[in-house]
Amino acid sequence: MDFDDTPDEAAWRAEVRAFLADHKDELGARTGRRDLDDETSRRRQALLYDAGYVGVTWPVEAGGRGGTPMQQAIVDQEMARAAIPGLINLIGIGMCGPTVIGHGSQDQKDRYLKRLLRADDVWCQLFSEPASGSDLAALRTRAVQDEQGDWHITGQKVWTTLAHLADYGILLTRTDPDVAKHRGLTMFVVDLKAPGVSVRPLRQMTGGAEFNEVFFDDVVIPDSERLGEVGEGWRVALTTLMSERLTLGGGGGDIGMNVERVAEHVGGRIGALPPDRQALVRQDFGRAYVATLGMRYTGYRLLTALSKGSLPGPEASAGKLAGTRAALELADLAVRLLGDDAVYGAGPDSARPDSAGPDETATWQLLQAGLPGMAIAGGTNEVLRNIIGERVLGLPPEPRADKGMTFRELAAAGA
Ligand SMILES: Cc1cc2nc3c(=O)[nH]c(=O)nc-3n(C[C@H](O)[C@H](O)[C@H](O)COP(=O)(O)OP(=O)(O)OC[C@H]3O[C@@H](n4cnc5c(N)ncnc54)[C@H](O)[C@@H]3O)c2cc1C
Repeated sequence: MDFDDTPDEAAWRAEVRAFLADHKDELGARTGRRDLDDETSRRRQALLYDAGYVGVTWPVEAGGRGGTPMQQAIVDQEMARAAIPGLINLIGIGMCGPTVIGHGSQDQKDRYLKRLLRADDVWCQLFSEPASGSDLAALRTRAVQDEQGDWHITGQKVWTTLAHLADYGILLTRTDPDVAKHRGLTMFVVDLKAPGVSVRPLRQMTGGAEFNEVFFDDVVIPDSERLGEVGEGWRVALTTLMSERLTLGGGGGDIGMNVERVAEHVGGRIGALPPDRQALVRQDFGRAYVATLGMRYTGYRLLTALSKGSLPGPEASAGKLAGTRAALELADLAVRLLGDDAVYGAGPDSARPDSAGPDETATWQLLQAGLPGMAIAGGTNEVLRNIIGERVLGLPPEPRADKGMTFRELAAAGA
C-alpha cells in the first residue's frame, strides 16, 4: 500500500477540492443538514454530476466518467473533508445502477442510467420482505405473466430505504414456486408511481423515516422491464449484493463518526474527569481509534486491489463487519463523554458551535442511534460472519435443511 497521491491523483484531488470550495454554498457544505430534502438533494447531485464527480468509475457509455476507483475514493474523501452531505441516490449508484449495467437491455441502460447519476430519478432496492431478510431467497412477492407478456406483481416489501422519494426500484420476485427457492426468482425494474404501488414510511429510532413498507397490488410491469432472464433473479441479485457490501464497507471512508472529529470534540472532556477514570477512558478511546484506523486502512488495501484490476471477493464482507463494530464503539464512547451535549448540543457536522437541536443538525446521539441499523443493513453481522467462515476461512458450511426442496414445499412446511 502506498498512501501518497501519485502526481495524477494529486492533480485530481486539487481539482475536486477547488470545485467543492467554489460551490460550497450550493452544495450545502457545513450546514449540518442531513435530512433528505428531495429537491435540494437532487440539485446537489446534479451539480456534482455535471462537474464529472458522480459515477466516476462507471463506463462512459453508461453516463459515467470511466475513471479509476482511486479517483472515486478521492472525490469521497474530499466531500467528507468539505462536509458536503451524502448523495441522495446512494442506493441507485451503489446497488441499482451496477445491476442495470450488468443485466439490463441497451434500451434500459439508455433510459435509466444517466438520469440516475444526475438524480433526475431516485432509485430504491426492493428485496427484503417481512419473512425474508437474511434468508432473502425465501421471498414471496409473486410475479405472474399474462398472455400479452406483461407481469402482474402482488406482495409486500419492507425496510425499503428511500421508497417514499423514489421514482424507480429494482424488484426481486418469485416467478416459479416449483423449483428450489434460489432458482425461481426474477428481477424487474418497477415504476414506483405505477397504479397499485403504495408506500408507507416507517419511523426509526433516530426520529427519521427514511425507510418504508411497500405494497404491490396487481402492479403491471411490461416484460421489457425485466432485468436478466426469467428464473435468473438470484444471479442478478448477487451483482446487487456484492456492490452493496462494497458500497457499505470498503471504500476507505469511515462509517459513522469521523475519529479525528471525535478526538477534537471529546479530547477536552477527558481532563475534566476524575483522575482514576481518565486512564480508562483513554484506553477505550485508544481501542476505538485503532479499530477505526484498521478499518480505514483495510479499505485502502481493497482500493489498491481494485485499482490493480482485481474484483472484490467475500473478504469485502469483513470491511463492513469490522467497520460497524468500530463505529459503534467510538459512538458509544463519544456519547458517554459528551453527556447531555450529545443529545442537545451541536453535532459533529454543525457549522456553528452554538447551533443546536435535531431539527438543525445531526447530533452525536442521532449518529449513534443510526449505527445499529448499519450493522443490519446489507447483511447482518452474524450472516457476514457465516460468509467469512465458509468462503474465506473454508470452515464447514451451516446445515441446510431446505436442500433439495422446492419453494412450494418449504412454504407448505412453514419455513
Ligand atoms: C437501515 C436499514 C436500511 C435497509 N434498507 C433496505 C433496502 O433499501 N432494501 C431492502 O431490500 N432491505 C433493506 N434493509 C433490510 C435488510 O437487508 C434486512 O434487515 C437484513 O437483511 C436482515 O433481515 P431481517 O431484518 O429480516 O432479519 P432476520 O434475517 O430475520 O434476522 C434476525 C436475526 O437472526 C440472525 N440470523 C438470521 N439468519 C442467520 C444465520 N443463518 N446465522 C446466524 N444468525 C442469523 C440475524 O443476524 C439477526 O440477528 C434495510 C435494513 C436496515 C436496518
